[in-house]
Amino acid sequence: MLISVPGIVDEPEGKVLFSPNLHWTERVNLPELVKEVWSVPVLLVQEIRALALGHLAAEPEAEDFLLADFGQGVGGAIVQRGKLYDSTLPLNAELGHTKVIGNTRVCGCGAVGCIETLVSRKGLLQSYSSANGGDVITWSAFARYLGEHGIPSWFEKSLDTAAAIIAGALNVLGLKKAVITGSLTELPPSVVEYLAKGVKEGTMWGRFGEVHCQSAPRRRAMGLVGVGVDRLLIPDVQPDRFAFAETNGWSAAVAFRK
Ligand SMILES: [Zn+2]
Repeated sequence: MLISVPGIVDEPEGKVLFSPNLHWTERVNLPELVKEVWSVPVLLVQEIRALALGHLAAEPEAEDFLLADFGQGVGGAIVQRGKLYDSTLPLNAELGHTKVIGNTRVCGCGAVGCIETLVSRKGLLQSYSSANGGDVITWSAFARYLGEHGIPSWFEKSLDTAAAIIAGALNVLGLKKAVITGSLTELPPSVVEYLAKGVKEGTMWGRFGEVHCQSAPRRRAMGLVGVGVDRLLIPDVQPDRFAFAETNGWSAAVAFRK
């Protein structure tokens, strides 16, 4: 069984070290919990890494990219030469916890001012409310509002900042492609288009070459299957079928073999 979990995950140890938006997962041993009800090998896969592997499986020609996912938080994963980038710490591409000067919102990670407090789903709805006299709005109503009124200036400012952070990461990593998944792709296409324009403007490569920034669906389950086939199954034995389960914040895939 493969379980995708957000946060800082020590995949070889099967342990969630730190999870800004799901702190309870730090205090439990997820693999052992699963084994109490079903004695199968269990692997934890960091959520955004699973998304990146899923994107790679769906578009194998996309060998080098930074994936930025927007949702409860803002996460990232790096794929270089067709492989997930592995850093010495079990943590990389943590775009969401970049400090934005002047932003006083407290983040789930304990810091003040992280970009994800502005551009996560909750952060955007909070900004809408502040800009509209405390009006509370649902996510789908917010999407409709953007369709009718265009992108308000407070949102443009947050998107400009997110774009600068993504562009900075592309400059540092030597990549020319960003893939955007998650909640921003549920809003009118003009939102990701605006972000993409900012990313292109902020990258060094964009001054003389071509930089791509595109939206893509979340392919978390497909990414988990890829990990499972690589790490749990005997390489030439293909599974007969897979089962998937997804809830808010995590998902699991099970491979069955005769
Ligand atoms: Zn943070």
